[in-house]
Amino acid sequence: MTDQPCPIRVLTSRTFQRAPSKVRSPFSSSESRGEYHGSMVRTTAVSDSVLKVGISRRGAERLKHGHVWVYRSDVTSADFIPPGSLVTVCDPRGKILGTALYSASSQIAIRMISREPVADFAALLRQRIVDAISYRERVVHNTDAYRLIFSEADFLPGLIVDRYNDILSTQVLTQAMDAAPVRDVMISTLSERLNPASIVERIDPKIRQLEQLPPRASGLLVGEKASTIVTMNGVQFHFDALEGQKTGAFLDQRENYAAAAEYAHGEALDVFCYQGGFSLHLAPHCSQMTAVDSSRPALEIANKNAVLNQSLIRQGLGKNEIEWIEANAFDLLKDYAAAGREYDTIVLDPPAFAKTKRDLDSALRGYKELNLRALKMLRPGGILVTCSCSYHASQADFLEVLGTAAIDAHRRLRLTELRSQAKDHPTLLNVPETSYLKCVISSVYR
Ligand code: SAH
Repeated sequence: MTDQPCPIRVLTSRTFQRAPSKVRSPFSSSESRGEYHGSMVRTTAVSDSVLKVGISRRGAERLKHGHVWVYRSDVTSADFIPPGSLVTVCDPRGKILGTALYSASSQIAIRMISREPVADFAALLRQRIVDAISYRERVVHNTDAYRLIFSEADFLPGLIVDRYNDILSTQVLTQAMDAAPVRDVMISTLSERLNPASIVERIDPKIRQLEQLPPRASGLLVGEKASTIVTMNGVQFHFDALEGQKTGAFLDQRENYAAAAEYAHGEALDVFCYQGGFSLHLAPHCSQMTAVDSSRPALEIANKNAVLNQSLIRQGLGKNEIEWIEANAFDLLKDYAAAGREYDTIVLDPPAFAKTKRDLDSALRGYKELNLRALKMLRPGGILVTCSCSYHASQADFLEVLGTAAIDAHRRLRLTELRSQAKDHPTLLNVPETSYLKCVISSVYR
């Protein structure tokens, strides 16, 4: 068996329009819109919630309606509150609304952690981590790679932990979660409960800058092991916690891979393939598979993943290999459509086009262009699996764009499944930011 079953082809030298996406969590840099003034803060040891923060009526209304954030513009008093403190939140009349984590730099100044007073913060953290783990034991099946802790959706705002087989990968997004005592609780609880070979921390320097936290390098917090192999839905993937692109895998698509595999057939095209998540799941059901991404490092890992899954892939492709193409997806779709190419299955899983609300119109135009081109290349009865991970483009926006693309392409679309992120990325009702991924599976008719 060779390491390179199929060389990566470079289709075009045109410059890429979009940079590879990094972390596609709505809780990352896009929400921390605080200005960075150059000074670094040291987070305090979070102990008890005697510090008080006053909020406006509008802020209080927001909490009353179930949200957990209060923006800085709704903070009326927060004098001498150290960054990252546990605070008691009061409405304009002085009524206590609960306990929150305070950020001195983010536009999201308050993230509620409890509606009650918190006497022992370490114990609360520990309990929340244990609860997050037991929730996954109930809802996650057939994989050793999944999100263990999803920030607000697990009532641990600012903390993300992913499990990749025996390696845990953490991300700290806020001042409060960066405090040393919080890190200690996180590491000890995860170690006791899961006994991982290692715990790795991934750093996004932009997030640390926005939170005015001192720079830190990605690295091992516990253990030595930095790479492993994960298996989801019976498909294997290399995972390297410290090298290559920082994202790891797009775990939020795990259930969508399995769903799409049920309908995939014939000649398939996986656009924005990254390390081959959809391609490798769909290949056993297809006669041909072409996969496209602008990131060469991602394609190199995709290629290695194909070697890992060779016997599975051959169930569909026979002697054919997955064809990996390094290209700008927009250019490639245009060229292939002009050349009259046709497919039975097309997957579109681009990076978030709308990183902020202001980007929404241009993002919707981008989604329309992609989907229009894909629809024109699909044979009757063909399957379109189309995704958007832009929180700012709602499911209704996305379906509307898809509808107009279908009209312009003179196609009829029958919706088979309206899907979202995998269950290990739970959605908290009344906190819309916890729901961001759309995955529409449909069949196309002329
Ligand atoms: N489908 C993948 C995740 C895709 S993430 C999976 O399930 O694992 C989005 C991908 O789009 C990234 O791999 C990024 O490298 C790629 N990308 C971004 N802009 C691109 C462009 N203009 N053309 C092709 N690929 C692009």
